[in-house]
Amino acid sequence: MAVVRRALLNDNAGGMKPTARFLRSDPHTQRATIANLATQDFSRGNEEMRLLSPMEVGDLLAGDLRAFGGPTTSEPVAGRVRADQISIVLRNTLFAMLANIVNAAVLVMALWNSPDRTRAIFWAIGIFAAAGFIGIRAWSSYQVVKPRTVSRRTTQNLVRNACLLGMWWGAVPVLFFHDAASNNQVIIICLVAGMISGGAAMFSTIPIAAIAYTLPIFAGSAFAIARAGDTVSVAVAILMVSYAATLFRAVLGHAFEFTQRSILQVESEHAIRRDLLTSLSNRLGFNELLDKALMDARQYGQNFALLFVGFNNFNDVTNHFGRAIADAMLVQIAARLRKETRESDSVARLEGDEFAIIKARDVRPDQLMSLAGQIIESTRQAFLVEGREIYCSASIGIALAPSDGLDADRLLRSADSALGRAKKVAAGSIQFFSPDDDDAAARRQALERDLRSALSDGQLSMVFQPFLDLDRDRIQGFEALMRWQHPIHGAISPAEFIPIAEETGLIHSIGQWAIRTACEGAVQWPDDVRVSVNLSVVQLRDKALLNSILETLADVGLEPRRFEVEITESVLISDFQEAQAFLESLSSLSVTVALDDFGTGYSSLTYLRKLPLSRLKIDRSFVQDLLTDTDSAAIVRSLIGLAHELRIGVTAEGVETPDQLDYLRRIGCNEAQGYLIGKPIPKEDIPAMLQGRSLRWG
Ligand code: C2E
Ligand code: CA
Ligand code: CA
Repeated sequence: MAVVRRALLNDNAGGMKPTARFLRSDPHTQRATIANLATQDFSRGNEEMRLLSPMEVGDLLAGDLRAFGGPTTSEPVAGRVRADQISIVLRNTLFAMLANIVNAAVLVMALWNSPDRTRAIFWAIGIFAAAGFIGIRAWSSYQVVKPRTVSRRTTQNLVRNACLLGMWWGAVPVLFFHDAASNNQVIIICLVAGMISGGAAMFSTIPIAAIAYTLPIFAGSAFAIARAGDTVSVAVAILMVSYAATLFRAVLGHAFEFTQRSILQVESEHAIRRDLLTSLSNRLGFNELLDKALMDARQYGQNFALLFVGFNNFNDVTNHFGRAIADAMLVQIAARLRKETRESDSVARLEGDEFAIIKARDVRPDQLMSLAGQIIESTRQAFLVEGREIYCSASIGIALAPSDGLDADRLLRSADSALGRAKKVAAGSIQFFSPDDDDAAARRQALERDLRSALSDGQLSMVFQPFLDLDRDRIQGFEALMRWQHPIHGAISPAEFIPIAEETGLIHSIGQWAIRTACEGAVQWPDDVRVSVNLSVVQLRDKALLNSILETLADVGLEPRRFEVEITESVLISDFQEAQAFLESLSSLSVTVALDDFGTGYSSLTYLRKLPLSRLKIDRSFVQDLLTDTDSAAIVRSLIGLAHELRIGVTAEGVETPDQLDYLRRIGCNEAQGYLIGKPIPKEDIPAMLQGRSLRWG
């Protein structure tokens, strides 16, 4: 088991996204990682130079930083990064265009009295038009909500426009520098330097745009300087080259850091929507996908289906084999679900062993049935974990949108009810939501609400069903069974309300009341007649249970040897050690323990040997088939034999016919319970039954 857990962890660590690793690392490592972000990629920038392919040129013009030694990104992430880059550029564009207009106006004013006036005016009109147009467009784009992703073409267009604008400014030194008066030359140099630094700052998130914009201005300046050829110009050239180097380095550093941060953000947004174990969407991711599907259904009338996949006995797997194996199984289940579904279907793990699929295409009932059938079939195959073959079959509930719900809550409830029914019908069944499910869910909700006050309102009562000792033909004891008389719904079976009590935790108070009521009944009976009380798994988890039983026995004055608890195997599976300790404490105090419904669960014989059990209750289903099914008869016979060997008593449940009773008597069963012996009766009727306790059966 440890091996699998280690393998899983290694696997996860190996395949983990950098962000997930980052988020999980300690603060020291995180700080080191952040410090590295800004520097690590410069070193890669020194790799050997080689020609770029046309695709790489396209990437480069779309703002990709790989050509500069920057980080590699997948296209969806790159789209998000571009959106971030462009939104920064857009934010500054209006202001930058105003600066363009002012600078162009300054140039015209400077050259107003020179022969270049007309040329300057024409040149400036070009700037006014372009800056006005770009500024207004940028402003209106900035007003709308920032897009989640931006196409390569958008960034490429931006780079092209930056280049055109740069060429227009690059024309200034070429056209006007040589013939300008020296004071105007100073103005031109200032303008050019300002445009270069402003442009670099403006495009600092997209270095290729910064280059596209500044390079023509440099080229124009270089031309003008070369043409002038004097010493001042050489000094200006040196200054410009040093500016350029500094600017380029700063722009690249900023862009790398910005992009890394943007990638990290995209990846962490992605990571919080993923289930770490299975890599499917988690509940958060699923909710967003469902909302989107619902929006499409409302806007475009697009039908879709929601499939809930659940496993009938997954808890048993966890309890029996441990968390690590259960986790490894969940990973395999996720892989099988992915394999059976299409790329366009969204598969999510909601929690534990509950999976959901949103299916937007092929949602005719027959198509859905066929998909669900394939999923059931694939989960029916054994799961191989640590050399064990584990079986765990799925059930599927299906809800359709919009017919079964046009909001997330309702649709989820519909799919959940359908799954609930599927699980009840049988493992491996597929059920579509039906309006009856709503009724069932509504009833359950009402019962859950009403059960809270049922005890204080005196709606709960206890009835007692006799056990017949087959050796002595006497009534030997009674099993206490709970009843709920609901003011509206009438008598409600414990099979329906005990699970509700367990889920809501009400079982603790109700269970204590049951123990006290049973004991209070039993003290009235002859002192060789016992009472047995059912305890559920949830009750056994309560550390205070042992004390509360002992206190009740002392309080009521019932001898512990006359008190029995009935537990099912599920109690033992969920926490064997603790259950064993609890049962040992009970039996050391002479309270007896019966294993109920034997044969319906794992029927592990280990329990019989390891636990201080006094009695085995063979489940009704075997007794029912005793005379008609040879397998059942053989099982019952061998169980009785085994119990005798271990000196444990055997009670056959659900005996309904004299023939069944006869047969059980012949094969050595000790005790019988069932409608033939007696139905559960209220405590007032017990004295009458006990009066003739040995007459009727002798
Ligand atoms: P169980 O412990 O297996 O109880 C036996 C169930 O089989 C009872 O149903 C009983 O009425 C029924 N039964 C007995 N003899 C026959 C028979 O000959 N034929 C048929 N067809 N049925 C027979 P009931 O009272 O509805 O109880 C259902 C389950 O509810 C019980 O199963 C037990 O698991 C649970 N339960 C009942 N009372 C309590 C309680 O006080 N506490 C807890 N934790 N669970 C309880
Ligand atoms: Ca029972
Ligand atoms: Ca039983």
